[in-house]
Formats: sequence, C-alpha cells, structure tokens
Amino acid sequence: MNSSTTEKIKIQKADKSRIDQVDFENLVFGNVFSDHMFECDYKDGSWQTPTIRPYGSITLSPAAKVFHYGQAVFEGMKAFKDEDGKVWLFRPDQNAKRINKSSVRLAIPEFPEEIFFEALTTLVKMDRDWVKSGEGNSLYIRPFVFATQAGVGASPSTEYKFMILMSPVRAYYAGDIQVEIAEHYSRSANGGVGAAKAAGNYAAQFFPTNLAREKGFQQIIWTDASNHEYLEEAGTMNVFFRVNDTLLTAPISDRILDGVTRKSVIALAKRDNIAVEERRVLVSEIVEASKNGSLKEIFGAGTAAVISPINAFSFQNTTHNLEKQDDSYAVKFKKELTDIQRNRCEDPFNWRF
Ligand code: PMP
Repeated sequence: MNSSTTEKIKIQKADKSRIDQVDFENLVFGNVFSDHMFECDYKDGSWQTPTIRPYGSITLSPAAKVFHYGQAVFEGMKAFKDEDGKVWLFRPDQNAKRINKSSVRLAIPEFPEEIFFEALTTLVKMDRDWVKSGEGNSLYIRPFVFATQAGVGASPSTEYKFMILMSPVRAYYAGDIQVEIAEHYSRSANGGVGAAKAAGNYAAQFFPTNLAREKGFQQIIWTDASNHEYLEEAGTMNVFFRVNDTLLTAPISDRILDGVTRKSVIALAKRDNIAVEERRVLVSEIVEASKNGSLKEIFGAGTAAVISPINAFSFQNTTHNLEKQDDSYAVKFKKELTDIQRNRCEDPFNWRF
C-alpha cells in the first residue's frame, strides 16, 4: 500500500484494484463496493484525521451505541459518467447540508462541509473507473455517520465515525410499480424524525413494506400518522400526483424528507410552465380523481430510481389502475433530469458538479 495526503486527507491506496472481479452487467443494487472508502472519527470533541483507505471491515465494540440506540444517519447520492468520460455529481451541496441537518436531529456532531467535499471528490477521482457511462449506470455514493462510543447508557455518544462508501449500480426499479396506501402503519409523526435520514426510519419501514409486498405491492404510500388522511411519501421517495395538468405534492415538514429529486422536479416544472401545488393532498381527493378520470399519473421521485412511475394504487382493498399517458410527466421529468445529470444538455440551474 502506498500512502499520500491531499491538503487534508490521509490516503492509503489499494495495492490492486478489485474491478476485474466485478460483473457490471449483473449488479444487485448496493452489493458491490469500489476499491476505496472514506473514514473520519470524532472523539475528544473534534473530528480527527480524515482518511481514505481500501474498502474493508471496521472493528467496533459490541457496546457501540449505534447497535443499542440507533444513533446513525446517512445520505444517498450518485456520480455519473458522460460520453466523454467526465464524471459528474448532482447537487452534492444538498446532501452535504442534509446529512448535517439529519445529524443535528439525532444529536450527532455536524461534519465540516469542506472535508465532505474534499472526501467526495478525492474518492470519486480515485475510483473513477468504477463509474460506468451509459443509460442507467451510475456510482451510488453512501455517506453515513454513526455512534461508536462503547457504553449502553441511553445518552448521546461522545464518539462517532463518518464514512463514505461507493457502489456501482444499474437502474433501481425495473419498471412501473404498484403501491398500497397506508391505513395502519406510519413512517413518521409530527415532531419526529421523518425529515431526517435516520437509519431507524428505514428499519421501521421494513415490516409494513414486507406485508405490502406479500399482497403484490412494491411500496407503500405513507400517510399522516394522525388520521391517515393525507398522502406524504412513497416508500423511500417523495411522491407526485398529476391531476389534469397540475402536479400535487406534499409540502416539506418535519415528517417528510426534503428530497433533492423532489425539489429538482418542482424547479423543472416551474420552468416548463407546469402548475405545481405544494400542499397537503387528501387520500379522498386522489381516490375521487381516479374515479372521475382526472388523475393522470402518480410517480415517486428519489436519487435511486430518479422517477418511478406508479401505475396502480390500492386503498381500502380496492385497486385503482392508471392508464399510460402519451404526454407523461414522469417520462418527461426523468429525461430532463437524467440529461442534466449525465451532461447531455445545458445545465441552466447549475446542478452539475
Ligand atoms: N423520501 C425518503 C424517505 C427517502 O429516503 C428519500 C431518498 N433519499 C427520498 C424521499 C428522496 O430524496 P432524494 O431525492 O434526495 O434522494
């Protein structure tokens, strides 16, 4: 292994790349990791030397607080390679800010944004061969931070580890999905942690999502925890409803993740003179719109799938099917977003990095 340093980061390079062992045609989402990872520990009240080293195991005490109290948050973002071999990130400033916002909510110390950026750019440059060009291909980037202090006292950890892993991926969902509207379980509550990318939010979704899967649905559309009256998110995506030619989506609140894809879709819609209403959307209003034919489309928006068209939803054991639209907004926004992400067009919003 040879060592070097950037301005701030200590670097240990892998002796040999593992890239030859990877079947890039048959990747399972998030199961393969690139040659290097980023690691930085927090102790004695400050972040220590940031390090990039070969991807590999870490050692933790079984008493590490993350195992007992779930004090952990994460991010999800992607790098894309254009046809000229240049690598691009999409709005990484948003992820840098959001992981710190999540950390604050979980009583985790914030991570310096400039080290986050240097870590990201250095890692992506080192492992740039792991980013494949071509439709659907990207490098999924997973920054995360978790409590490492050994001790089962129920109080915030005094020690943490911030890491970044990178995983080559292909398209996330194969095609259109069917969803069930939540009538019993909830993912978040007023004053809770729904707006944070807290690890435990996802653990809590697995069981109800499994129940929905057994019934043939890929995801749940989460509703408000009070009365299950309002539509909030679709699985791990924000959700949009197209009623006639207007887009409806729930407003950001402490129950909803402030998605980068969501805010990008809203910006594109406004640019394209499509009416967008960020307001509470009633389940009853969407059921009614489905019955009277004004509900044209539903789609999820998130980094993993970009835009995920939803062609059926179930509510109170009745399935409502949606017909394909010739002028689909889902198709349009997916193309506009992926064209910007992959440097196939101008970038009027300055989103590429
Ligand atoms: N909602 C939830 C609960 C999510 O986990 C995600 C994925 N980060 C999103 C929405 C979409 O956010 P983004 O567009 O930033 O990926």
